[in-house]
Amino acid sequence: MKNDNIKLFRDGKRVDGRATDDLRPIKIEAGVLHRADGSCYLEWGGNKIMVAVYGPREAIPRHTQNHLRAIVNARYNMAAFSVEDRKRPGPDRRSREISKVISEALEKILLLEKFPRASIDVNIEVLNAEAGTRCAGLTAAGVALADAGIPMKDIPVACAAGKIEGQLVLDLGKEEDNYGDADLPVAISPRTGEILLLQMDGHLTFDEFEKALDMAIKGCNKVSELQKAAIIQKYKVELEVE
Ligand code: UDP
Repeated sequence: MKNDNIKLFRDGKRVDGRATDDLRPIKIEAGVLHRADGSCYLEWGGNKIMVAVYGPREAIPRHTQNHLRAIVNARYNMAAFSVEDRKRPGPDRRSREISKVISEALEKILLLEKFPRASIDVNIEVLNAEAGTRCAGLTAAGVALADAGIPMKDIPVACAAGKIEGQLVLDLGKEEDNYGDADLPVAISPRTGEILLLQMDGHLTFDEFEKALDMAIKGCNKVSELQKAAIIQKYKVELEVE
C-alpha cells in the first residue's frame, strides 16, 4: 500500500485539491431504468454506478425461501471495462465479499417480515471504478430501494474515511486508496446512527479509529441529504407532469 515516492499532500491539499474533510463531487439520479421496480444512477468522483432493484417477488428457487421474512440478494458486479486493466468478467472473491456485506447491511434496515417467502434483488453494476465503490454502490442501492417503494426504517448511506501520510481524511480517492495507510468504509442509518457496515483496510490506532469513524459518519450524513434530494427531485417531476 505504502510508496514513499508518491506525495499525497501538496501545500496542505490532497492530490485532487480537496481539504481533509471534503467529499468528492457526487451526483445522484433516482428512477432511471423503466423495467426495474426501482433504480438509481450515481456518480461519486470517478465512480459511475447503476443500481436496479426488483421485488419483493417470490424467491426462486423455492428452497431459498424463508417463510418468516424476505431474503435480500445484493449482487455487486464490476464491468470488465470499469477498471484500468480490463477485469475478468463474472464474480470473484472480492465481488462476492462486497455482495455479502452489502446484503447484510440492507437486511438490517429493510422491513423483511412484511414479505415472507419473497426476495428483494439489488443489482449493483459498477461501470467505472475509482475507489470507494462499495460505499457508492450501497448509497445508490438505498436510493433505488426507496424508489422501488420497499418499506424500510431509513435510507441507508455509506462513506469512507481513512489515513494518508499520517493524516485522517474523508472519502479516499484512487491514489489515496492505493498508497494511503488505511481505509474505513462505513454505512449507517442516518436517522438512528446505527452502523450497518464497518470494514477496515490498513492500520489505525484506537484514537485514530474513533476520529475516522466520526469523520465517516459526518460524511454519511452529508451524502444522505443528496439521496433525499434525488428522490424528491424524481417525484416532484412526476407530480408536475401529472
Ligand atoms: N480495483 C481495480 N481492479 C479490481 C478491483 C478494484 O482496479 O479488480 C480498484 C477500483 O478502482 C476500486 C479500488 O481498486 O474502486 C479499491 O478497491 P477496494 O477493494 O478497496 O473497494 P472499494 O474501495 O472500491 O470499495
